[in-house]
Amino acid sequence: MTSYAEWAVRLVNDPAAPPALRRLRDELAEVFAAASAGDEDAVAALLNALLARYPVHPRLSAHDGQRWHLHLAEDEAASAVMGLAAVVAELGADRLGRCQEPRCSRAFLDTSSNRSRRYCSARCASRANVAAYRARRRGGQ
Ligand SMILES: [Zn+2]
Ligand SMILES: [Zn+2]
Repeated sequence: MTSYAEWAVRLVNDPAAPPALRRLRDELAEVFAAASAGDEDAVAALLNALLARYPVHPRLSAHDGQRWHLHLAEDEAASAVMGLAAVVAELGADRLGRCQEPRCSRAFLDTSSNRSRRYCSARCASRANVAAYRARRRGGQ
């Protein structure tokens, strides 16, 4: 499920998403915006609407020498929506984050044990730390 959710995150962060996926990208971005605003009812309502629009059709599949395993749907959109909904159900809506680095705001999945992740990457975390340090220096402290 997490791998499907990670695909959803990559789509949200893809400014050049294929035209067929742009609507879904913007809808998933709204889910992340609601989650980072702490509005869990809105997260659930948005995801429920998407689950209705992109229904899953699970299939057992065996390919590339793998054992039989479940594919949620042939369609990436339905799989991504289901993956995000499963993360919310199993781990909580607060696992869907938006990077706090002001120029970034990329989406991420917070899989840290204490739900403390604030940045999409180590690069953004250190950029934010440098900015905070400079702001303190400008403040004369
Ligand atoms: Zn497979
Ligand atoms: Zn970032």
